[in-house]
Amino acid sequence: MKINNQCRDCNSPNLIKFLDLGQQPPANSFLKADELNDPERTFPLEAYFCRNCNLAQLTHVVNKDLLFRNYIYFSAGMPKVSPYWQSYAEHIIANYLTADKNSLVVEIGSNDGILLKFFKDSGYKILGVDPAINIAKIAEKRGVPTLTEFFNDAVAKQIVKQYGLAMAIMGNNVVAHIDDHQTLCRGIKTLLHPNGIFVMEAPYLVDMFENLSYDTIYHEHLSFLAVRPLQKLFDKFSLEICDAMVVPSQGQSLRLFIGHKNTRPVSKNVQSLVNKELGYKLDQEESYFNLAKRVENSKTKLFNLLKDLKKQNKKIAAYGAPAKGNTLLNYCGIGTDILDYALEDLPSKQGLYAPGTHIPVVTRNYAETHLPDYYLLLAWNYTPAILEKEKEFREKGGKFIMPIGDNIKIL
Ligand SMILES: [Zn+2]
Repeated sequence: MKINNQCRDCNSPNLIKFLDLGQQPPANSFLKADELNDPERTFPLEAYFCRNCNLAQLTHVVNKDLLFRNYIYFSAGMPKVSPYWQSYAEHIIANYLTADKNSLVVEIGSNDGILLKFFKDSGYKILGVDPAINIAKIAEKRGVPTLTEFFNDAVAKQIVKQYGLAMAIMGNNVVAHIDDHQTLCRGIKTLLHPNGIFVMEAPYLVDMFENLSYDTIYHEHLSFLAVRPLQKLFDKFSLEICDAMVVPSQGQSLRLFIGHKNTRPVSKNVQSLVNKELGYKLDQEESYFNLAKRVENSKTKLFNLLKDLKKQNKKIAAYGAPAKGNTLLNYCGIGTDILDYALEDLPSKQGLYAPGTHIPVVTRNYAETHLPDYYLLLAWNYTPAILEKEKEFREKGGKFIMPIGDNIKIL
């Protein structure tokens, strides 16, 4: 682990801690049964605010090889993600790519290749970049060529030499994972065609203020992104945000379209999101301390509710075993004394144990024969789909607990 004593975007040393979620193991480090007695590595999970550029960020950086070389998240394994990525690809093709099928499309953090496959099927040249060797193999099987590297300026130069400049570069849920934003931006600058577009998507900091989604804070997410700080970062590299939108992914995510400076008109969407951020006073440190107070209150309410239910001998289990769920469980002190198991449809996590809490991750078959009275909705970002899927459970009196928010809701 290393500790940054300067902001990763503007290099200012003027950072102030606003939220302390305690010592936590990496949120995706699920354990096998024979590892349960080994000591787990934990790291401070603390969020800081940069008084200079206003980037909210972690300063404790866990070694990225520990986090990403053998990654457990598969894009295509998530419910209803294919239509999401398909419309994402269609938007880029319609608005930013010409019919020239020699155009190169690169994705940083390409995971199992689900998004690039849509571009390939439309005839474009594609290249994935992802350090996770296990997942790159799955992408290759799908016909998505993948460089197993962490993206940086040197890798960008290598791509240009071998494949040429990229008309579109995408980075979904990856910018927040990268510690060195300077080499990321240099790499984008190197690889992006003069008329090309860099499209990035990341959980939006505003969502944390609106929905108290503090569980999206874990060691992999080194920055909590908003338009204003990113504008300042990109400007240093003569890059410019020319369009922006908020999309319903992982709560609310920010999708930004970035070109070389002064190559495209800037949409009024950009300023309207900046205004929204200023409306939440995201430029003022007091706002972050208020957020931290709300998080603490939410934790107390959730913990008390669960303790009350246990006193009434209710059976409670977790619905989903997402990484963010582990932040929440470890921070709130919710362990096997409260939750019987975590139901998870992703085969790669089944049979494993949640880091820190050691809650067993089970299959749907197991859950259906051990139904709880309450499910704690750790995968809250899929709430509508889950409630639809679990109609029968609810009709029979089963309930869901929404674990985040100023008031803990029972659905
Ligand atoms: Zn800064």
